[in-house]
Amino acid sequence: MARSSPRTAYNEVLSMLKTHNRWFSESIPLIASENVPSPAVREAMISDFANRYAEGWPGERVYAGCVYIDKVEFKCMELAQRLFRAEFVDVRPISGVVANLAIYSAFTNPGDVMLAPSIPSGGHISHGKKEHSGTAGLVHGLDIEFYPFDAEEMSIDVDKTKQKVQELEKAGRIPKIAMFGGSVFLFPHPVKELSDFLKGYNMFINYDGAHVAGLIAGGQFQDPLREGADAMTMSTHKTLFGPQGGMICSFDRYGEDIKKATFPGMTSNHHLHHMAGKAIAFAEMLEFGRKYAVQVIKNAKTLAEALSGAGFTVLGEKRGFTQSHQLVVNVLSFGDGGTIEADLEKANIIVNRQLIPGDIKAGRNYFHPGGMRLGVSELTRLGMGPSEMRQVAEFIKGVVVDKKDKKRVAAEVKRFRKKFQKVRYCFESRTGGYDYIRIR
Ligand SMILES: *Cc1c(COP(=O)(O)O)cnc(C)c1O
Repeated sequence: MARSSPRTAYNEVLSMLKTHNRWFSESIPLIASENVPSPAVREAMISDFANRYAEGWPGERVYAGCVYIDKVEFKCMELAQRLFRAEFVDVRPISGVVANLAIYSAFTNPGDVMLAPSIPSGGHISHGKKEHSGTAGLVHGLDIEFYPFDAEEMSIDVDKTKQKVQELEKAGRIPKIAMFGGSVFLFPHPVKELSDFLKGYNMFINYDGAHVAGLIAGGQFQDPLREGADAMTMSTHKTLFGPQGGMICSFDRYGEDIKKATFPGMTSNHHLHHMAGKAIAFAEMLEFGRKYAVQVIKNAKTLAEALSGAGFTVLGEKRGFTQSHQLVVNVLSFGDGGTIEADLEKANIIVNRQLIPGDIKAGRNYFHPGGMRLGVSELTRLGMGPSEMRQVAEFIKGVVVDKKDKKRVAAEVKRFRKKFQKVRYCFESRTGGYDYIRIR
């Protein structure tokens, strides 16, 4: 970009923000880790909470000025406890990665072994090895062992996991922590099936619900804290209603350790506008979460079936493609994930390329993997249902299979989006979800 005067740069940035908002209002956003917040959550984001400090626990702060911040944070915690039926919650982690790091720090030491899903089988980089710059290995020095994965079932293999743990025991490398959950997350993980076994080895069990927390809150996915998990970490903005942030749910017996790991361990200030936004989002989830989660899963299944019908290979077919907000498509008959992602973007369809089981062995990498991942939480929140999902599949087929002109598809997508501008499943929704708010 050309070097410009401060005033010109200032105008350029503001103008790009506005253009971005318009672009997204005319697009089909299918990134599985994204969602769109309600106007109420956006209001919290621009409140003065954004400019304050409140280190520590509500009622035990390091700074003055927290009278209302404390009240909101207690409310936020109470709502989170109800939503996830959790004895203890810490709403302060500023992201899902920070929440995971707090758990690693509270319950393991550097050098300990962690059992976690590998990235091609759905794991997240925050569970990863040091040589991949994964958070667990790089930042906390954990030594990662991967779960055996069943690519037909698209889930962790229970029997082979038990064998693997027995082998690790013989080698004197019993894991200290077992991590469930992931970023490609089509079906519940076998927490119930493995937790007694893993606890027999004294492992701490964490469930990373970053992607599926909103479905859990809506009662439509597994319930890890009832299935044997000791803690659940999450992002607050993927299937949950935002804003971007993290959270930990657990039991009172682990509360003190988690509290200290979050502050002063992982955070100083904890972004109080986001905390207030979480409180609003949790209230929305308590009221509307069940209906929303049911619709999300119905939409994901419908989109998967429609894409399969259009000639795509959708993973997890044996189990009905998906039981979550996501679906994963093997695109190798039409190109590679990277090229297809770029083509779809030109047609205003926003997806992400995805490593799928078998990619690494076949020599494919993250830039040109064999798959793409689609998530329907945001489209669902905009009020879309099964007939719109079939239309979305048609658009994708148009670009990827029929090689239609991408500009023309973009124009059709823009028309299709016209009726879906407001955020649903919330108490008040006067302002469009992507309206740019100018206050200067
Ligand atoms: C997205 C994700 C995270 C990270 O969350 P952030 O809020 O982006 O830090 C952690 N774990 C899993 C499984 C994820 O998919």
